[in-house]
Amino acid sequence: MVGAGWSIGAILQKSGRMLADIVLPPLCLACRLPVQGHGGLCAACWREVDFIEPPRCDRLGIPLPYPAGGIIVSAAALASPPDYGRARPVARYDGVMRNLIHDLKYRDRHEGVKLFAGWMGHSGSDVLKGADVLVPVPLARVRLWGRRFNQAALLSRALSGLSGIPEAPLALHRVRRTATQVGLTPEQRRRNVAGAFRVPEGKEVEIADKNVVLIDDVITTGATVNACAKILKRAGASRVDVVALGRVVDPLTPRL
Ligand SMILES: [Zn+2]
Repeated sequence: MVGAGWSIGAILQKSGRMLADIVLPPLCLACRLPVQGHGGLCAACWREVDFIEPPRCDRLGIPLPYPAGGIIVSAAALASPPDYGRARPVARYDGVMRNLIHDLKYRDRHEGVKLFAGWMGHSGSDVLKGADVLVPVPLARVRLWGRRFNQAALLSRALSGLSGIPEAPLALHRVRRTATQVGLTPEQRRRNVAGAFRVPEGKEVEIADKNVVLIDDVITTGATVNACAKILKRAGASRVDVVALGRVVDPLTPRL
């Protein structure tokens, strides 16, 4: 006899979860100290994530040091307007956020993906409103084999599940392997990724006249997402915005 309000499935699910907790007790994704539930952060690590909240540049998504009403565009975006419309990174790419992204990218640790997608949904809520399709920034095939998965595609799939916005994971291809962007100047980065992407034949229909949101793990200088946005617009996208987990921010920009 099962108690009122409890289905066998719910009991099995609960006992399965309890068993999982005994075998693998929930640990903070960043510091590995015990926490309440799987896939979360402890309070101390949570405080260490530098979430980017308004006031932020409407185009680049970088934090701005002064509060102001309405839509604000940074001097950097005015001087060199990006090819995408608006970028919405969740947090500064440093400290705990940098470690979390490295775990996801290089150490095959995917248990934070659901949490990250929730953060991206929050930070990108304005650009996701009215979005038609999510497109992950593709990895080069060689790198995909080396790493076995594309972290941007994992984030895109999770965000699609959470938001109900369909994704088009094959709508953008990387047509040539690019040198790693690490250590390159902004101009070298731009040249490195120019012509590296294309919308494969037959996939234009997934992009044309659509409001596209590009998904990536980190925006460093913006060269990669810029190159992708250019190609997506050439394929007929009405609008291209970007949602990412991390954004490299000038360390001199004061923390609010
Ligand atoms: Zn922690």
